[in-house]
Amino acid sequence: MIKNLKKNCKTEYLRFTKILLSKGILPFSKKNNGFLILNYHSVQKDNNYPFAISPEDFEFQLRYLANNFKIKTVAEIVEHISTGKNTSDILVGITFDDGYIDNYKYALPILQKYNVPAMFFINPNIIDLQYESFMSWKEIIEIANMEFIQFGSHGLSHLPLSVLQKKDIEIEISKSKTILENRLKKDIIFFAFPFGMVHPECQELLESYHYIAGFITVLNNDKTINPYTIGRLVMNKNNSIPNYFEIAVAKAIRSYQNSSL
Ligand SMILES: [Zn+2]
Repeated sequence: MIKNLKKNCKTEYLRFTKILLSKGILPFSKKNNGFLILNYHSVQKDNNYPFAISPEDFEFQLRYLANNFKIKTVAEIVEHISTGKNTSDILVGITFDDGYIDNYKYALPILQKYNVPAMFFINPNIIDLQYESFMSWKEIIEIANMEFIQFGSHGLSHLPLSVLQKKDIEIEISKSKTILENRLKKDIIFFAFPFGMVHPECQELLESYHYIAGFITVLNNDKTINPYTIGRLVMNKNNSIPNYFEIAVAKAIRSYQNSSL
């Protein structure tokens, strides 16, 4: 009975949100301060990987976000979170995990077309293996020199930090930073947890290696947000279906705004 009620409420909520969006009305306050960071993986057509979305869907999503929100760099959003300053805008950030070659081939030209900044989180040890589905160091260095692109660490070898010993977590956090800084000649101060898995020791270690923020793959952001576990909306095949994308974005922004009241 309660299960059915919950299911009905959810269906009703989705129906209502869909109607508002179809009329061009956003189901949350555009005046309220808020933010949302999206997390992409592969951007490629005909890829069965559940986190792969087509370049066409990606372009639709960027256009929608650029038309309705202020797309900012991750650094600007972290500054906004850390200072707690109110803005009258909803800030949106774009991130990519893992460093797939299709990001370079298909997503990058679309980011350039809409002049949208993005952050790429990569694993130096995986890049070293030179798999054809990942970017090479040459491609990474090329785009790292583009003004609107930033890079962050995704650990050394994409290991789930939550199951490692402290000394091994430290290696993942510190060595990945050193290698990326040497290769890219840029400061690496952002970290995305592989699989979104965090260990209680991580924050202290990230702070001691001068990272200023960490990102997970669960949307748990509220007023008391910790900059070392910032939640992101993970894009996948299901929430990229037209209408569902707008609803997923609306839901994420509304839940943050409601928690901030
Ligand atoms: Zn990953």
